[in-house]
Amino acid sequence: MRRLLVALALPAALAAQQPVADSPALAKALAVLQADNAWTLQKQVALCEIPAPPFKEQARGIAFKNEMVALGYANTYIDSVGNVVADVQGAAKGPTVLIEGHLDTVFPEGTDVRVKRDGTRMIAPGIGDDCRGLAVVLSAARAVKQANLKFAGRVLFVANVGEEGPGNLRGTRHLLGTAYKGQINYFISVDGTGMHITNKGVGSNRYNVHFKGPGGHSYGAFGMPNPIHAMGRAIATISEIQVPKSPKATFNVGIVSGGTSVNSIAMEGIMDIDMRSESAEELAKVDVQVRKAIDDAVKAELARWPASKAGLSVRIDTIGIRPVGIQADDAPIVKTAIAVAATFGVKPPLGSSSTDSNYPISIGVPAVTIGGGGIASGAHSWSEWYDDGPNGYVGPQYALRLVATLAGVAP
Ligand SMILES: [Zn+2]
Repeated sequence: MRRLLVALALPAALAAQQPVADSPALAKALAVLQADNAWTLQKQVALCEIPAPPFKEQARGIAFKNEMVALGYANTYIDSVGNVVADVQGAAKGPTVLIEGHLDTVFPEGTDVRVKRDGTRMIAPGIGDDCRGLAVVLSAARAVKQANLKFAGRVLFVANVGEEGPGNLRGTRHLLGTAYKGQINYFISVDGTGMHITNKGVGSNRYNVHFKGPGGHSYGAFGMPNPIHAMGRAIATISEIQVPKSPKATFNVGIVSGGTSVNSIAMEGIMDIDMRSESAEELAKVDVQVRKAIDDAVKAELARWPASKAGLSVRIDTIGIRPVGIQADDAPIVKTAIAVAATFGVKPPLGSSSTDSNYPISIGVPAVTIGGGGIASGAHSWSEWYDDGPNGYVGPQYALRLVATLAGVAP
């Protein structure tokens, strides 16, 4: 039995690739990334200082495209949803690898995105998440040109839109689900900083829930159901939902609004709720309980005022659904990513998160999200900072050697 299990496990283990041997061109490209590290950091800052709120990534996308064209990727284009794509045909037969960093930030229009310095520390919203990823993709593409490195397979260098919450992975969905459907063999997202491998995608369901009633005077019309009260009942029930620690499942009502004045029975109560899990089953269970809590709350609020003719309605709008992406710790692409990291003396932690890799993993395309090197803190906050440390250049080197390993290198 034991022997049989080992035999069955073997093919998967064999499918993981050993890090590609450094051809002279690959060695040169890696050396360029170290020698021209200042260029990488300069582009990270320049891209960060172009605002890119959700759905408003255009200006940053155009800047990224211009950089790619200037590097010699003349066929770089911006697709119908705003992704910037440089499609590099392989020199021989080999798999197709897509590597991307995301253009969008969580910060609204008007946010001061100028980069401030404190010693070697660079401080600005988005400087790490994901201007680091963009700089890694850009500098890797530059090193490829400088070293005249030819991949065996096809490589797509991408700056994508829509990674953050409201974007709902629309850039990556478009690339993997429509534009290059069935054509991508390996997917790499460079998201954030440090050296880590995200191999599991936390799924999420996010809703905007709208409770509605006729409303009225708080004194004169007293005795009718109140949408805010109904919403309060729902939140109270939701807050008591029991979830397992493993596989982790979570819920959060993050925003509430509604009402017009203290002495009016509200006409509407609105809440945004987020549920997450690395298990599709657990996520579905929380979802069912949340929907029941909302339904029951409306019924209870109506039952509280049996004499009232006023009704209550509720509408649940989807803000975003991110599929759960389960990929084993010993999946070939994960083992390959670990093996390539080891060539730099790094043992990156594996983890689960909600990133662009969710989508490819959910449709069966091997995918990892890796960090772009350096050290950082405060992602999604105004005090976000990035420090390149003594060897930030290892981030882009790691990304490039991983691409080269997966795509293969032409002699
Ligand atoms: Zn990010």
